[in-house]
Amino acid sequence: MADRDQSSAAPVLSVVIPCYNEGENVPLLFGRLMPALHALGVSIEVICVNDGSSDDTLDRLRAVQRDEPTLRIVDLSRNFGKEKALSAGLAHTRGQAVVPMDADLQHPPEAIAPMLEKWREGWEVVCARRDARAGQSLKDRLFARGFYWVFDHLSDVRLPREVGDFRLMDRRVVETINAMPERSRFMKGIFAWVGFRQTEILYHQGERAAGISKFSPIKLLRFAFDGLTSFSNFPLRVWGVIGAAISTLAFCYILVRIIRTLVWGIDVPGYESILVSVLFLGGMQLLTLGIIGDYLGRVFDEVKGRPLFIVRRLYEPGEE
Ligand code: UDP
Ligand code: MG
Repeated sequence: MADRDQSSAAPVLSVVIPCYNEGENVPLLFGRLMPALHALGVSIEVICVNDGSSDDTLDRLRAVQRDEPTLRIVDLSRNFGKEKALSAGLAHTRGQAVVPMDADLQHPPEAIAPMLEKWREGWEVVCARRDARAGQSLKDRLFARGFYWVFDHLSDVRLPREVGDFRLMDRRVVETINAMPERSRFMKGIFAWVGFRQTEILYHQGERAAGISKFSPIKLLRFAFDGLTSFSNFPLRVWGVIGAAISTLAFCYILVRIIRTLVWGIDVPGYESILVSVLFLGGMQLLTLGIIGDYLGRVFDEVKGRPLFIVRRLYEPGEE
């Protein structure tokens, strides 16, 4: 597939980097990223998405842009979250191969070379798989395991393990993703859902270069639930089965009571059993309503049809 390199206007490779309050990481990132990219010997573009940072990320990116004619900056109007920032970046790529990566150097830029190699062999998606989860606590590892287990059992999409957003995608894959209209962007799921011929390479994930992770435990939990409900209807459907089981049991119980009343006469009134079943069923109904509400909220979000993200300004190299 060597002919892919002889492109005219569009670069061969686009690298997309969502940045949220990564000011400190910007110089570290470009210090390592640019030599690795230039060593590839193909035409490149780097697209940094400033996801409404409140620090000096944008200024620092613009400073880098002054001597880096391959850097384009997409400045979003506010913080939209990583998934949407990534969608914004993908929408602005022009390259024939596209690599999304994090700004904190947890994704080594040196791993792009072997990915490009695989792409030239004809693979359409080259996932980068972590060889070990560096700097992760036991709690996080258990959480991740639990999430994958539940996701695998509830949805039709298989999420590859230890694979994040760091990957190489062919133009066709990116176009497909860009054309997906859904507002809830669980990128891990979307990447897996689109399919195409996929392969993997191994990489070693380092520690975050500077600053702290932008994902709090609550944000992570919300993210996991979002992912689950965007790729599975099981939480909606399961209540039908549980409801049917409970109704059957209740029906049997009523029969038993009727027979007992007919044979032995009226019993001591069973306040506890009534109270317990009312509370139990009430709780279940509220839970079900909550889950239906969550899906309904999602439908509402889709129906409103608001844009996924809002670009305040696109800074092309050489502009003032
Ligand atoms: N990020 C973003 N918007 C957000 C949160 C994070 O663009 O609202 C970016 C962040 O700047 C980084 C990447 O997403 O480039 C991954 O974030 P982080 O390193 O905090 O996540 P972790 O590695 O802990 O999963
Ligand atoms: Mg990180």
